[in-house]
Amino acid sequence: MALIVQKFGGSSVANAERVLNVAQRVVDIHQQGNQVVVVLSAQGDTTDELIEKAMEINEKPSKREMDMLLSTGEQISISLMSMAIAKLGFQAISLTGYQAGIFTDGTYSNARIEKIDGSRVRSELDAGKIVIVAGFQGMNKNGDITTLGRGGSDTTAVALAAALQADFCEIYTDVDGVYTADPRVVPNARKLRDVSFDEMLELACMGARVLHNRSVELAKKYNVNMVVRSSLNDHEGTLVREVTEMEKMMIKGVAYDKDIARISIIAVRDIPGVAFKIFKLLADVDINVDIILQSIGRGDTKDISFTIARSQLVDAVDLINKNLDYIGAKEVNFTRDVAKVSIVGAGMANHPGVAAAMFEALAEADINIHMISTSEIKISCLVRWDEAEKAVQAIHKRFGLDKEI
Ligand code: ASP
Ligand code: MG
Repeated sequence: MALIVQKFGGSSVANAERVLNVAQRVVDIHQQGNQVVVVLSAQGDTTDELIEKAMEINEKPSKREMDMLLSTGEQISISLMSMAIAKLGFQAISLTGYQAGIFTDGTYSNARIEKIDGSRVRSELDAGKIVIVAGFQGMNKNGDITTLGRGGSDTTAVALAAALQADFCEIYTDVDGVYTADPRVVPNARKLRDVSFDEMLELACMGARVLHNRSVELAKKYNVNMVVRSSLNDHEGTLVREVTEMEKMMIKGVAYDKDIARISIIAVRDIPGVAFKIFKLLADVDINVDIILQSIGRGDTKDISFTIARSQLVDAVDLINKNLDYIGAKEVNFTRDVAKVSIVGAGMANHPGVAAAMFEALAEADINIHMISTSEIKISCLVRWDEAEKAVQAIHKRFGLDKEI
């Protein structure tokens, strides 16, 4: 008998028909002799609608009350699912995050799971029930409801799988798995059979928003076998695990992120400590910096450029402007006209020429590169915002990612 955690996203439970469809899938797995824990997201766009409701009343609501509100979306899903399973003649019980023993830190709207007491879930499973847990929520030490950040139900599922030592954590969504590129941009993108945790983390960070980032971090930490698959068909999904079999394939995918902006600080004094001052200022207000480029000095000054999330652009530019004298810089400029295009693959570490091939693809497509950054398993280029899709297509083709290996 295996213990399986199955997570279904909002689109998979969007209406009564889909709830019943999922209930049937869950019952089938249960009937094959498995213990099943089901983790659910809020139905369809419920979370967004709840946010809108709040905004109609107060544009700056407290985070505590937002968590109280948003956690209700998942509670609707779990109770309906329990009713659907009962209708099929099986025993089920729905549990909120707290009832399932999920304890978090105190950060409302972006809480982290600190510990899980799986005893309630275990005893319900042992009593023969299918256990349905509300995703995306937990409880802090004040006894208040917290939420885990948008898309956080994946993290609930993986954390439960780790705590219960489940055999598998299946993430059901409305796509068939993880692709070599966004199929809306590259129609012949191919579904990957497997991808390593590290590769998935890079892909998830870079706009291939299939999985909540923290869920992959957790799966890596506790070595939870994950599979991403569609709730709408029986196709095999993509396995996410420590080591993949497709080592021959050095590049797993091409991702892009248009949600970024570039800031340049001009004529910074060329002395020790300047970069420290700049990035410490940003870190102190939780602004995350991505690609950093420092020019070679001209005379006694140099320029420092970096990218950040678009939503933090205004705050970051304000902060730097206020501190120009302290930093010892002349001026700051910025642009939103940038996007980041990246290739990811654990195999590239042992293959020379990968970067050259990527740059060649961009050159042939007549796309200019503004910044470059590399790591063991990825290479990212900054390009013009409106050229991101074209860049993805060119790189995907250059590496032959549409071809089965
Ligand atoms: N319902 C939450 C959201 O939309 C959590 C989730 O879907 O995983 O962000
Ligand atoms: Mg959702």
